[in-house]
Amino acid sequence: MENQQVQCDACHEPFTIQLKERKHPGNIIEAYIQCPHCKEEYISYVTDQFARREQDEVRKLHEKYIKRKGKLFVHMEKLKADILSKREASE
Ligand SMILES: [Zn+2]
Repeated sequence: MENQQVQCDACHEPFTIQLKERKHPGNIIEAYIQCPHCKEEYISYVTDQFARREQDEVRKLHEKYIKRKGKLFVHMEKLKADILSKREASE
């Protein structure tokens, strides 16, 4: 997303996305981008403490998932190689 060129919906000028953050009561953070030409703002996403904790958790689970999927792939490739080598031996 960063360094990406977009066109402002309001003034139609192109600009580079630069994510800015603004704090709100209740530990809420608004992430937004602002057109440098006409100052129009666009909300990217809003998080509270619960959402940020969940994002962390989902990120960790995703890393675990990737690792586990990789191990499973290696395991299944080994099973396949074993079958193939037995097949070659019997030929
Ligand atoms: Zn604009």
